[in-house]
Amino acid sequence: MADIIKLLPDHVANQIAAGEVVQRPASVVKELLENAIDAGATTIKLIIKEGGKILIQVVDDGMGMSATDARLSFERHATSKIQKAEDLFNLNTKGFRGEALASIAAIAHVEMQTRPETEELGTHIKIEGSKIIFQEASVTPKGTSMAVKNLFFNIPARRNFLKSNQVELRHITDEFHRVALAHPSIAFHFYNNGNELFNLPSDNYRKRIVNIFGSRTNQKLVPVEEETPIVKIKGFITKPEFAKKSRGEQFFFINNRFIKSPYLHHAVVAAFEGLIKSDSYPGYFLYLEVDPGSIDINIHPTKTEVKFDDEHSLYAILRSTVKHSLGQFNVAPALDFEHDPNLQTPYEFKNKSAVPPKVTVDAGFNPFQESKSPSPSPASRSYQKPSSGNWESLYVGLESKMGADDEPGSISFESDTITGSIFEGEKETTEAVTTTFQIRRKYIVTTIKSGMVVIDQSRAHQRVLYEKFLKNSTVKQGVSQQLLFPLHLSFSKSEINALKEIQDILVSIGFIFENIEGESITVTGVPLLVAESEVGMILDQLISDYQQEVTDDSFSHTDILSKTLAKTLAVKTGETLDNASQIALVNDLFACKESMVSPFNKPVYITITENDIDKKFI
Ligand code: ADP
Ligand code: MG
Repeated sequence: MADIIKLLPDHVANQIAAGEVVQRPASVVKELLENAIDAGATTIKLIIKEGGKILIQVVDDGMGMSATDARLSFERHATSKIQKAEDLFNLNTKGFRGEALASIAAIAHVEMQTRPETEELGTHIKIEGSKIIFQEASVTPKGTSMAVKNLFFNIPARRNFLKSNQVELRHITDEFHRVALAHPSIAFHFYNNGNELFNLPSDNYRKRIVNIFGSRTNQKLVPVEEETPIVKIKGFITKPEFAKKSRGEQFFFINNRFIKSPYLHHAVVAAFEGLIKSDSYPGYFLYLEVDPGSIDINIHPTKTEVKFDDEHSLYAILRSTVKHSLGQFNVAPALDFEHDPNLQTPYEFKNKSAVPPKVTVDAGFNPFQESKSPSPSPASRSYQKPSSGNWESLYVGLESKMGADDEPGSISFESDTITGSIFEGEKETTEAVTTTFQIRRKYIVTTIKSGMVVIDQSRAHQRVLYEKFLKNSTVKQGVSQQLLFPLHLSFSKSEINALKEIQDILVSIGFIFENIEGESITVTGVPLLVAESEVGMILDQLISDYQQEVTDDSFSHTDILSKTLAKTLAVKTGETLDNASQIALVNDLFACKESMVSPFNKPVYITITENDIDKKFI
């Protein structure tokens, strides 16, 4: 039989390797930035065009390369960083596989200019799809400039797979953050389509974090420091009150290299236990130093996962270090993240201690008024109380005593749209709902012809608001309330960029922005229902939800923003609703297109028919 095994030509092998190393423009950015750092650069410039699809360029002032090295650097397994196998266990550089440049040159148009300090003339090389187009001597500054153009030009399937420029830019920005946070002493500049996104001078860790994430970040940071034989830890955690609903600013660096570690993440979250709500996450910037021999980072060229020799000790040390910092900086005792601590007390006790004994006069009681929206009248309470054989109806009496007037936290709905009847075909008996009551500050109960409906107040309100925002944004006529004094808020550059991207949607929902520049914005109008004091928090949430989401089409953006707003603004479990509000909410709910489910696909109400009830009595 004839021999059939052939060695793959280099350019094919390189293309295959490129599949592993280069997933998207952000992977190229990471490799080039790391090479610049390994070259000892003190200033690094990153230049991007069209989400990196047209151009990714990194310019450094590092050690540069000789003409021969310049040519060799594009060969596979060409590296200056290890010479023998043992070197692998003592790595102080980012690269070592000698794969990145060869891979990138196989799938893009690459142009490099480089010069070591000691030489007068530098080298200029152009390579397209592994083919050298030219190499010549050139006059160029000390250091290296590497320009990668038309990524995946020869692999259309990969090129088509790339996301929108915005999404690719977001991935690049994430990568940039990681590298810039790990190397605060190096100055970074980042330009996108000619605009400067970041200008980070050489600085300490704290200032680097603040320069990237905005001046507001400074007050949030609590320093962390610990030194043990196993690990040295330094960095910052964010104060518990700044915990976010979404994951965002969470960074681990091991020996100045960004890593992901669900295990260590858990250690930090565990240290925050009891200090933040279970559905929110602390921010952290933690720099760990360990003996390079005790970790394995070489699993995969692009993987950010690490294996540790002694995971359990690391976990315990990290957790107690973070705990210690929280305590030391007096963060723990001064916690006040729960708006209404009474909510944790059983209802009955709360009521007894909260309401001083007094004669309650129902000021709004009008004996001549038809009870269209029955305010809790003394008569109805005294009727309910004696009949209360079980705790639940006892509760009803208590609840109504806590009506809107004595409850500072209670809220009112605008009830402009009492339009629909509850269910089709039952119009004779139920026009708009007129009688409701609230149980456990969580559910609203009302009757229908066939029995009763129990409505989750928070989900119902989410549904109502969600549809309202969706509608406003499609007809572009969100109703705004003008603020008396314009609000000036500051954000980080990347947050401002995100804000610009969603600006149109926010405006259609009812926000009015005067200017969005540098690191600050001026808000002059907000949607109805949004309280002035909440604007910053809400914009924070909108931006971070938008940033988390990786999708291109604008409908999903509107959808996700409407969901966020609805969730943020909806009444919560635990809020007392006065009767008029309950009625308005119920009627608004049943005027919705999809009243059955919340925007997050949870059931909004259940019905219990008379039949169901009858069965219980058998
Ligand atoms: P690795 O970084 O794993 O060694 P690369 O393919 O990324 O592999 O780079 C190959 C070699 O090219 C490096 O080992 C280094 O010697 C040289 N090199 C790459 N980029 C630069 C740069 N910006 N400045 C100086 N030398 C560089
Ligand atoms: Mg490299």
